[in-house]
Amino acid sequence: MRTGLDWQRVQALVAAERASYITRNPESARLAGQAAQHLLFGVPMHWMNDWSTPFPLTVRDASGARFRDADDHEYIDFCLGDTGAMFGHAPLAVATAIARQSARGYTAMLPSEDAGPVAAELARRFGLPYWQFALSASDANRFVLRWLRAATGRSKVLVFNGCYHGTVDDVFVDLVGGVPMQRDSLLGQVHTLTDHTVVVEFNDLPALEAALKQGDIACVLAEPVMTNIGMVLPQPGYWEAAQQLIKRHGALLVIDETHTISSGMGGYARAHGMTPDALVVGKPIGGGIPCAVYGFTEEVAHRVEHAKRSAPPGHSGIGTTLSANMFAMAAMRANLKQVMTEAAYQHMFALASQLADGLRASIARHQLPWCVTQVGARTEFQFSAAAPRNGSEAGAIMDSELEQAIHLYLLNRGLLITPFHNMLLVCPATTDADVSALVIAFDAVLRELV
Ligand code: PMP
Repeated sequence: MRTGLDWQRVQALVAAERASYITRNPESARLAGQAAQHLLFGVPMHWMNDWSTPFPLTVRDASGARFRDADDHEYIDFCLGDTGAMFGHAPLAVATAIARQSARGYTAMLPSEDAGPVAAELARRFGLPYWQFALSASDANRFVLRWLRAATGRSKVLVFNGCYHGTVDDVFVDLVGGVPMQRDSLLGQVHTLTDHTVVVEFNDLPALEAALKQGDIACVLAEPVMTNIGMVLPQPGYWEAAQQLIKRHGALLVIDETHTISSGMGGYARAHGMTPDALVVGKPIGGGIPCAVYGFTEEVAHRVEHAKRSAPPGHSGIGTTLSANMFAMAAMRANLKQVMTEAAYQHMFALASQLADGLRASIARHQLPWCVTQVGARTEFQFSAAAPRNGSEAGAIMDSELEQAIHLYLLNRGLLITPFHNMLLVCPATTDADVSALVIAFDAVLRELV
């Protein structure tokens, strides 16, 4: 993993970059100190402390592919809110729609005029006829698991080792030395998650078949490409065979496109001819306004409706008051119709390819045993010569110290990439020059590290 690197130079670089960050960002430091008086952990979300920086950078404003911090530095943003802003910060069509909606009410526990058109557009794009809404992809995944357990009468969920689908307790089960184990970092979890969650490695058809054969799996919840432990691509033919197995054993397939919506208008599944029973998208679907969607096939929709009608009246455990609110609906309608367009995708694909090629050339120039994976508008460099084939392989090549050294170097030069892995997104507002700036800085940091 650290082959080809001079680790003493890496450590010296980190020390110098941390000092430079502190000098460069006095206002962010002051604001972080002030906020710490009343924010638990000093930040609005505890994980905001896990970035590579000595104290959090405070954002002042963001537009398109750029944002400015409290010290008035401008950044080219290749993180884009870890996909929430995949179509750019504050896209004009969404800004206009929510400005209009801002004078017309936000939430009323009733459908707005946008609800029907949004669902119709989702059906057209994703090829699934029936839709529901949630406030986040975490919630959407949680609700889909409930619907499908209820609809199938089966209790178990199958996930892939190393997956992430948001704060969905059910899926925090890992394979540790081949044994399913509840993730030990989970706080306050008192249920035995391994009772109802089955975990297998991605790209392992025999393991998938053995699990499905038990006949108790309601659904497989999967990203079509794993993206949260570094990217792991499906092997050729994997999903064709996996889908047949899932169907043969009476389970359902839920595809979580929250990150792989980078693949095109209808997500990775549509682009690659997959036919999931249910599909989830969150984060960028409303241009970054909190909302998420999930859709079902006709057949699953019937089973779900039957489950609801057969249940006693009362709480379903699926809902939340603000889901499908008027504000989010207006944002989704504008975003789907005017921002997430084919032209936008074509621009993003071309730039992501340019970026991936640039990173590969730089890696080759410095003779590092690293690889680069691209899934539409999403690009990632990983610290192994061969792309990982499953979560265990992907987890084994992660190196947070090395990652943070690179991220901090780039940040100090006005370039933000996604924390906690090495993911880069481009948006409709990203330019050729932005990509070149990243590639040049990446080459410069590699020169420092080898
Ligand atoms: N699904 C996937 C694939 C994700 O990567 C994430 C978040 N990274 C989620 C769901 C959850 O999204 P949120 O945090 O917005 O609920």
